[in-house]
Amino acid sequence: MGPPPTHLLHDLPRMGSLRLAFIALCLCTLTARAFDTVVLDPGHGGHDRGAAIGYVFEKHLALDTARRVEQLLKKEGLRVVMTRSRDVFIPLPDRAAAGNRYGNALFVSIHYNYNRGGSGSGVETYYHASSGYSLASYIQAYLVQRTRMINRGVKSANFHVIRNTTRNPAVLVECGFVSNSSDRSHMMTGEFRARIAEGIAQGIVAFKRAH
Ligand SMILES: [Zn+2]
Repeated sequence: MGPPPTHLLHDLPRMGSLRLAFIALCLCTLTARAFDTVVLDPGHGGHDRGAAIGYVFEKHLALDTARRVEQLLKKEGLRVVMTRSRDVFIPLPDRAAAGNRYGNALFVSIHYNYNRGGSGSGVETYYHASSGYSLASYIQAYLVQRTRMINRGVKSANFHVIRNTTRNPAVLVECGFVSNSSDRSHMMTGEFRARIAEGIAQGIVAFKRAH
């Protein structure tokens, strides 16, 4: 490499305005990153009932909860895309594809939990990529505040839909245990599912305000 071409030296006085232009560009990029779309993914559906005790099926609870979240987010002026809005089976890759379809979006998968023996209780929120951690934390905090259910925390996991939604922050919310008689008695009432939905929606809105 030889000495720098002299025309670069002549350009030096312009570096200040170039730097300003660069900062302005960065700010525009940050502004553009504020999301305006939420992809809601009610777990399971159709032949896939998810967790089930008697006639209490996770697929019904997840869809009802997601619909409530949808209404709340629309009131906040957000665009909401549902991976399913009725009782149909959607393969996991199609759900993740929906999570990757939109720019400036979030992906929130809604599930209810199950464990053998029925001792597990409470709510937890999962992320995979670090980009989902903050969103998971907001949703978990508001979900616990709104429902007073046991706080099982924010956790990292390898679930298909959040692993393969790579374009946007992606989380999976477990809204209580179908296998736990106390959790189940709560989640079977519309009043309690409304509170769960409020917690999730408030977490999303708080995340938006903070970013
Ligand atoms: Zn599930």
